[in-house]
Amino acid sequence: MADRYLSFAGTAPGRFLTRRLGLPRPAPLRRWSPERPELDGGLLHLTAGASGLGPVLAPVLARTGPGTGGAADRPAAVVLDASGVRDVEGLAEVHAALHPVVRSVAASGRIVVLGAPLDAADHHRAAAQQALEGFTRSLGKEIGRGRTVNLVRLTDASAAESTLRFLLSPKSAYVSGQVIEVGDQEVTAPDDWNRPLAGRTALVTGAARGIGEAVAETLAREGAEVVVLDVPQAEQDARRVAERLGGTALPLDITAADAGARIADALPGGLDVLVHNAGITRDRRLANMPAERWGPVLEVNLASVLRTTDALLAAGTLKRGGRIVATASIAGIAGNAGQTNYGASKAGITGLVRALAPRALAEHGVTVNAVAPGFIETRMTAAVPLLIREAGRRMNSLAQGGLPVDVAETTAWLAHPASAAVNGQVVRVCGQSLLGA
Ligand code: NAD
Repeated sequence: MADRYLSFAGTAPGRFLTRRLGLPRPAPLRRWSPERPELDGGLLHLTAGASGLGPVLAPVLARTGPGTGGAADRPAAVVLDASGVRDVEGLAEVHAALHPVVRSVAASGRIVVLGAPLDAADHHRAAAQQALEGFTRSLGKEIGRGRTVNLVRLTDASAAESTLRFLLSPKSAYVSGQVIEVGDQEVTAPDDWNRPLAGRTALVTGAARGIGEAVAETLAREGAEVVVLDVPQAEQDARRVAERLGGTALPLDITAADAGARIADALPGGLDVLVHNAGITRDRRLANMPAERWGPVLEVNLASVLRTTDALLAAGTLKRGGRIVATASIAGIAGNAGQTNYGASKAGITGLVRALAPRALAEHGVTVNAVAPGFIETRMTAAVPLLIREAGRRMNSLAQGGLPVDVAETTAWLAHPASAAVNGQVVRVCGQSLLGA
């Protein structure tokens, strides 16, 4: 499953050949490690026009990690505050601010553009702010060298601290070309930013292996007590994962009609983070797809998510301040031949998230978001035929597949106690896949 092309492209002959032949040139991504938790370099804070965010932004940025000292030569992170841009003239300032520095941004560096929410009452301002989206996505596609570009729409920088910390760190290595909206809910900073989930319980479905295992591991690193749920057939693996993480295993088929009640019974102390990760594929083109291949995919990937979410909210098992993170997919955004069942189920997740998010927050104090993975190196994708697998890996701005940990880090950001103002978002972890872009 190792990406040999990625290793080859990093050698001297590989660099020569890929340049000469115009082949994809993936750069090794800088991911988080305890030894190197921050980007290698400083942060450059730029503003286009008058800031719409005021003096709150600078101290928040100062706390995000990369220092601001000496950042001008070779910044590892650039934050462009474009929230005050109201018209086409303002967009010229976006160009003027980034044009001179873009070449100097370090490999695996970050550019984060800050915008304002779209204003339906002012179409000039809305045009300029929407323009930032096309700008961000285009820059993401051309910047290369493992660098990412994302847009955050916000009105209150302090509500976006967890988001900025995530985007300006190695944890967001495979998140690029995304537009994230952050509301203005009041946010309480955790006592310890390194263990924000301390004292909290997180349940991850389908956590015996693959992405779910990585999510459980990352949430445990963040301090959570993890519950590793998987089908009874995978009980041994689930126990192994739980033991390693100091958590507990819960063998349960999530499609069981009483799954919600059984989770509630298993967690008398309640639940803070619910990650719906379990998922299956049963690919076949529609003309060849019997109901037996359609049903289980919709049942595992969507119906059980709806049922358990409803049950755990109604029972009060999910506590106030709780977080739900569901798993969509780029297949639900772009569609995929042979995946009408899977694409339907994953698009359904997006519908669930958008509709439930405002209500769950108002009625239960719980946020609802989703991650939408692109091509992630797992057993699921190892089973894909070679040529399709190679295409899936390369057809994104970073020219490589993501790792389970990339989805896990994104989930941990959404599950963060300080992410109370991030709600109703579907965030793609896809290296800016060309599919559904
Ligand atoms: P995987 O097949 O490696 O792991 C899925 C886990 O879910 C398994 O441990 C399995 O036993 C468990 N599971 C399946 N049905 C279950 C049920 N009824 N009850 C409880 N557990 C059940 O898959 P993965 O690649 O790690 O994918 C995880 C999630 O990410 C899925 O929702 C998948 O659709 C989504 N996703 C993956 C990719 C990718 O590239 N791997 C891309 C997009 C989305």
